[in-house]
Amino acid sequence: ATETEEKDLVIIGGGVAGYVAAIKAGQEGLKVACIEKRGTLGGTCLNVGCIPSKSLLNNSHLYHQILHDTKNRGIEVGDVKLNLKQMMKAKETSVNGLTKGIEFLFKKNNVEYIKGTGAFADEHTVQVNLTEGGETSVRGKNILIATGSEATPFPGLTIDEKKVITSTGAIALETVPKKMVVIGGGIIGLEMASVWSRLGAEVTVVEFLGQIGGPGMDAEISKNIQKTLGKQGIKFKLNTKVMEGDDSGSDVKIKVEAAKGGKEETLDADVVLVAIGRRPYTAGLGLENIGLETDNRGRIVIDQEYRTKIPHIRVIGDVTFGPMLAHKAEEEAVAAIEFITKNYGHVNYGAIPSVMYTHPEVAWVGQNEAELKEAGVKYKVGSFPFSANSRAKTNLDSDGMVKFLADAETDRILGIHIVGPNAGEMIAEGVLALEYGASSEDVARTSHAHPTLAEAFKEAAMATHGKAIHY
Ligand code: FAD
Ligand code: NAD
Repeated sequence: ATETEEKDLVIIGGGVAGYVAAIKAGQEGLKVACIEKRGTLGGTCLNVGCIPSKSLLNNSHLYHQILHDTKNRGIEVGDVKLNLKQMMKAKETSVNGLTKGIEFLFKKNNVEYIKGTGAFADEHTVQVNLTEGGETSVRGKNILIATGSEATPFPGLTIDEKKVITSTGAIALETVPKKMVVIGGGIIGLEMASVWSRLGAEVTVVEFLGQIGGPGMDAEISKNIQKTLGKQGIKFKLNTKVMEGDDSGSDVKIKVEAAKGGKEETLDADVVLVAIGRRPYTAGLGLENIGLETDNRGRIVIDQEYRTKIPHIRVIGDVTFGPMLAHKAEEEAVAAIEFITKNYGHVNYGAIPSVMYTHPEVAWVGQNEAELKEAGVKYKVGSFPFSANSRAKTNLDSDGMVKFLADAETDRILGIHIVGPNAGEMIAEGVLALEYGASSEDVARTSHAHPTLAEAFKEAAMATHGKAIHY
């Protein structure tokens, strides 16, 4: 970019929120530039989040299955060895392919990609410290902030990404730890606990609350998956708070106590994963130069059209309100561009799915039982276990269940919760049902191919408005 060039839109951050907005803006014919400091596009999700973690989850699952779950299937395997270096390489190949793919999409859609760190000079100007050295500035009629989030640190523990790690260290360990303690039994904690436990680590998850899975997971589903993960070898300490950590020695000592006070205990680990949530990232962005403030949780405050109090500056993705999910960021990106070009845009925050990629997977959309009770909504429940589903049984992979929650009077679907094989793919049907305002009877009367796991979905719907056939 030359010094004074003015764009229709300047985007700060090339994560899922920023890059999707950039492509959409290019498609709409806007002159757009996207500033990213990381050196590659795709942000947390593609570089150190969704994609590398799913690569390790997939391949560690294969390894674990080959070790423990082949004989009864009539497959005799010989010497099974872990080659962690190669597993990491496979992960990097996927990440590199996908991040480069976005660079290609930028070119295809006439998006200018500026490699560097952006900071507000004034309300229309972003100063960029270029990665290759030097500076430039870009002016934008509109500016979109999409700077994402970072791991919340644990007071008293210094993150070195080797001994005390966040998810970023957890997807790049060079050896399998002997003992790993995970602080926080949310999605990151459980996905990473799964990876390293399958590869041979002794993993203990310490969770402050009485259930695992983080915000939103239905309590019954949470109990169900905890049981299965327990069978896989992961240990859990629920209702337990971490008081302090000591990382001064060769291993790390974590002092824990019952959440309501009481017995203290010290856990030893050679690696401690801090997974207590993520917080919005705005460091060095120069918000103070334009008088923009963040709320008490670090989020930039916006209105329903993603506008800050300076209306041509908008904010989307992890750095502002709502669940910190890639597909939520993506929906907001498209809506924000539509607000700029057409004056309207829309995201249905009531129908954003959540998926935890353990084995089995957990997936849900809409409200859970506790939320419905709290809201005083009368609802009915229909559930169906995978142990009664023919495909799950033939696959010898039948832990879990599908659970529908529907309005007691109207039968309209209010929430769908799944723990089971391929739950993450199956929930897409639930999201569509919710978007269309379907009743459980609508799903129950829809033909589902036999034999598929999705029949468990249909039968749970049948159980909600009447009776399941196979259970
Ligand atoms: P980010 O992806 O964080 O992107 C922001 C980008 O802005 C970064 O690349 C950063 O370098 C850049 N940036 C920041 N400040 C500046 C600046 N001043 N100048 C230039 N560039 C800047 N979500 C899912 O939906 N599914 C999953 O399976 C999933 N798995 C995850 C696993 C892990 C381990 C983690 C940590 C997260 C996972 N997430 C997952 C969450 C997902 O990664 C985020 O919701 C998503 O990345 C948010 O996108 P974003 O664009 O808002 O922010
Ligand atoms: P989270 O909010 O999901 O879970 C954090 C957990 O840590 C909670 O259960 C909380 O009760 C617990 N906790 C907090 N402080 C604690 C303490 N002092 N001691 C013990 N436990 C404590 O956060 P996360 O797992 O770090 O994930 C961060 C974000 O990344 C989430 O918004 C998540 O949606 C997103 N993410 C999504 C996926 C996915 O979609 N598959 C995967 C990874 C991350």
